[in-house]
Amino acid sequence: MTDSLTFSTIPHAAPTSADARAALLEDPAFGRVPTDHMVIVKWTVEKGWHDATVQARAPFQLDPACAVLHYAQEIFEGMKAYRTAEGAITLFRPEENARRFNESAERMAMPTIPEELFLDAIEALVRVDADWIPANDGGSLYLRPFMFASEVFLGVKPASEYIFCVIACPVGAYFKGGSKAITLWVSDDYSRAAAGGTGAAKCGGNYAGSLIAQAEAMRNGCDQVVFLDAAEHRWVEELGGMNIFFVMEDGSVITPPLGTILPGITRKSIMELAQAAGHSVLEQPYSFDQWQADARSGKLREAFACGTAAVVAGIGEVRHSGGSFAIGNSGDGPVTTALRDKLVGIQKGKIADDRHWLRSVD
Ligand SMILES: *Cc1c(COP(=O)(O)O)cnc(C)c1O
Repeated sequence: MTDSLTFSTIPHAAPTSADARAALLEDPAFGRVPTDHMVIVKWTVEKGWHDATVQARAPFQLDPACAVLHYAQEIFEGMKAYRTAEGAITLFRPEENARRFNESAERMAMPTIPEELFLDAIEALVRVDADWIPANDGGSLYLRPFMFASEVFLGVKPASEYIFCVIACPVGAYFKGGSKAITLWVSDDYSRAAAGGTGAAKCGGNYAGSLIAQAEAMRNGCDQVVFLDAAEHRWVEELGGMNIFFVMEDGSVITPPLGTILPGITRKSIMELAQAAGHSVLEQPYSFDQWQADARSGKLREAFACGTAAVVAGIGEVRHSGGSFAIGNSGDGPVTTALRDKLVGIQKGKIADDRHWLRSVD
């Protein structure tokens, strides 16, 4: 199998006008404004990856027996393209997304995609829709590569046909409150993942299973749900779509270990940045009881959630069926702020990219 394909481009016949685009870019919210194009690459057992195209964004036509609609063989990634002050376009550690996409594919019995082809597809879309990258400070172009089983077949087995697609949307801040600290809801009844399950794969099914808990969180006035482990219901794992960090009084930074959680690229980057800033970084289990006790005693100074979409969000309060507790001064603490500024500074090209995390698209 070749590692790259030539993309054929069929440009949008009537792309959004510059004026209409400028209006849409003013307040795009999160994931509501589509760009003009999408990338499609097909896979079959016989041909492998083939038919790579950049084309006008349009609905799929799916047979009602299309496998993904029944057995949810679907995975995705989330990444961003940034416009630097100098006008350059950059991606943040996209090779990590390519690698993780293939780990998700393996877990879901789907074909892997050559890293080079994954990156070519991302770059092809970013190039054709480059005018959609917001130039303002908090803005970026959110990229959503995904793959689904497209075979028309109701039998239960890994499908023999797949579609890989990349779409994009300009985005502003993920949480409506801007950089205000978020409130979490601890789910009593639901778990996100169990040992041997799909917790470490970025698959739509994980999200489907988490939505009822997220809805419960919102009913309780919280921004996000935080899940505890499935076996003991004791250890903090992560949010529905973000990893979590705890900043202790002695300057150490704790984050739950990998296994049933999603191995976030933001998580990994924050760990490196925290270490470089002199914090001791501990990947270790942290229980809900400890969390509550440490927040009360002041041993826990800050907590934050992180992921590509929301970047770094301070956690101000935690609610659960038995009450609630505040963290630190209920706002973004100094360590949270410093780590966010460092990360965003690198992503936006304002701080030297010593670790070579940026890949420029030209
Ligand atoms: C995508 C995702 C994250 C964050 O990963 P990043 O690579 O940092 O964007 C965390 N948890 C879950 C469940 C996710 O799906």
